[in-house]
Amino acid sequence: MTDFSQRLKLVQQQIADAEAQANRAPQSVQLLAVSKTKPIPDIEAFYQLGQRAFGENYVQEGVEKAQTLAHLNITWHFIGPLQSNKTKAVAEHFHWLHTVDRLKIAQRLSEQRPSHLPPLNVLIQINVSQEASKAGVALSDVDTLADQISALPNLQLRGLMCIPAQQDAEALKQDFKAMQKSFHGLQSRYSQVDTLSMGMSGDLSLAVECGSTLVRIGTALFGARDGRANG
Ligand SMILES: *Cc1c(COP(=O)(O)O)cnc(C)c1O
Repeated sequence: MTDFSQRLKLVQQQIADAEAQANRAPQSVQLLAVSKTKPIPDIEAFYQLGQRAFGENYVQEGVEKAQTLAHLNITWHFIGPLQSNKTKAVAEHFHWLHTVDRLKIAQRLSEQRPSHLPPLNVLIQINVSQEASKAGVALSDVDTLADQISALPNLQLRGLMCIPAQQDAEALKQDFKAMQKSFHGLQSRYSQVDTLSMGMSGDLSLAVECGSTLVRIGTALFGARDGRANG
C-alpha cells in the first residue's frame, strides 16, 4: 500500500470510530480532502483511491486545479477567505463555498453564478471562538444572514462552518456544542440545511462527537504543508 492509501484508510477509520462512539450512523460524516498547496498528482492519487471531494483555500490555485482536472468527477469546495473581487472565479468553478460571512459576498456570488450551473452550495462561517482577528459572523447573527442568503436565487444555503481558536479540549468542545445547537436551529427553519463543516486533522473525533457532518482534513492525508501553512 502507498502512503496515501494508508493515510486515507486511517482517516476513514478514525471517522468510522468516532461515528460509532457517538452512536451516529455509519457514513454520516463526509470527508473533505484539503489539497491546498499540494500538487495536482496528489489529488489524482487520492481520486484513484476513491476520494471525490476536495477543498482549496486560494482562488487562483483552486481554479487552476479545477480546470486541469475538469475531466474527473470531483466536487470542489472553496474553504478559504474570499475577497469580493474574487467571487466570480469561485461562482464559476466551485460547487461549494464554506466561508460566506457577509451579504455583499453572497449577493455577488448569486449574480455571478453561471445560469447553466446548479445553485452554489454555501455555508455561513461562524467566528465561534469570538476572536477579534478571525473571519465569520457571531452566532447571534446567523439567522439574519441565513434569511438574506435564502432569498438569493443562485445560492443554496446548506449549513454552517467554523474554524475554532487553538484552545484546550474543554473550551473547544464548548465551541463545537454551540455550533451544533445553532445548526439544529437552522435546520428547523430551512429543510435543505444538512451540513455542519467542522473538524480538522487535530480535532476530528471531538467534532464528530459534537455533530459535525463534514470534516476538512489536510495534513493527515497529504502530509505537512510548507509555506503558506494555514491559509
Ligand atoms: C488548511 C485547512 C484545513 C485542513 O487543516 P489540517 O489541519 O491540515 O487538516 C481545514 N479547514 C480549513 C479552513 C483550512 O484552511
